[in-house]
Amino acid sequence: MAAELANAAPLRVGGLTPLTSIDFPGRLAAVVYTQGCPWRCSYCHNPELLDANAPTALDWPQVLAFLNKRRGLLDGVVFSGGEPTLQGSLPAALQEVRAMGFQTALHTGGMYPERLSALLPWLDWVGLDIKGPQQRCDAITTVPGSAAKAWQSLRCLLDSGVAYECRTTWHAGLFSTAELLALADDLTALGVTHWALQECRTPETMAWHLTPDQLALLGTKFAAFTLRRAA
Ligand code: SF4
Repeated sequence: MAAELANAAPLRVGGLTPLTSIDFPGRLAAVVYTQGCPWRCSYCHNPELLDANAPTALDWPQVLAFLNKRRGLLDGVVFSGGEPTLQGSLPAALQEVRAMGFQTALHTGGMYPERLSALLPWLDWVGLDIKGPQQRCDAITTVPGSAAKAWQSLRCLLDSGVAYECRTTWHAGLFSTAELLALADDLTALGVTHWALQECRTPETMAWHLTPDQLALLGTKFAAFTLRRAA
């Protein structure tokens, strides 16, 4: 283990949130934003994190020094992005953070199911984006094959027993309400019990409206259903 950590290339970090109570359920956590993402979703809120070769905001040792001072004050560390699983140094980073006594969480689009599978033993919670119905995912990410990868990741995650939330960001221009309701059925058929529907609202996006009956129906399908309206 020590040799692996010593040889690991440093994680490329695009930003750090020192304290959050909403990104890792039930924990006070810091969020480490990793640099680089292979997908190009039109609604991405972190465009500055997409270029894997962009200059980093922080060095990984600076992040570790920050976390060292937060021992006993924070419960956990969230790795978000960008796409954390893009970087081969993520396993070592997770192990270092765990060794400092923090719990660990990952936000991912699930584009590397094999890597996610290998990371799961080092994770206490995963937020997995399911971009939409399988027939729509590739158009949303603009990368062919995205749907197959994300859904393979979802199956790995569910099989692992690691705590999770599936989340879908939606505006009416991405896919129809009928497709959204069918997606909920597909997720429950796979065994998803925790799903968050996140409203995407920008000047360019189309507003959506779900009736109270439709929302109530979604609420009955999942043990935990969360609706996140845009601010
Ligand atoms: S997967 Fe996430 S970080 Fe990557 S482009 Fe899509 S929204 Fe942005």
